[in-house]
Amino acid sequence: MGTFDTIILAGAEDAVPCAHGHEIRELQTKDLGEGMATYYVWDGLLFRERRSAEGSWGTTLSAVRYRIENERLIVLRETQAEPAPAGEIAVYATCESCLPVLVESPNSYWGLVKEEHPWVQYILRFEGTRLMEKRPDRVESRDDVRRKHPEAIPDDDRVAVRHLERRSKGRSL
Ligand SMILES: [Zn+2]
Repeated sequence: MGTFDTIILAGAEDAVPCAHGHEIRELQTKDLGEGMATYYVWDGLLFRERRSAEGSWGTTLSAVRYRIENERLIVLRETQAEPAPAGEIAVYATCESCLPVLVESPNSYWGLVKEEHPWVQYILRFEGTRLMEKRPDRVESRDDVRRKHPEAIPDDDRVAVRHLERRSKGRSL
């Protein structure tokens, strides 16, 4: 597996679409070579969150603001991210907004089927800290997922219908 960094496409125009048009904003990458760091793209610029081990002003524990909401304390913290130059990096995620393709799997945690979500992989090309290009690399549709898994069952299969119904009711399987 190895370690990966998280990259958040934060600005309004920065998200990438899955094959079915859902906005993907949180992805992973192994190409920034750090592991466990968080990067942000904001308005086409790349930033890296400073970690607490690097100085006193990364992630601070005391909050900027507190408020009470429904008897819970909401703690709003401030974090800072510094400009981070990069080259070409592959970023990837699965689209959890897409209805999963159900694949027969007798040993799965869910019972008879397991859920496979479409893969979303882009190449981001930076010059310095500026994002120049977002290039689809491997952006799977649900049909692609289906083709990849010969044991996939059709959405209108009786077992699939029941599973997807239960799933939409909050996964109370
Ligand atoms: Zn999707």
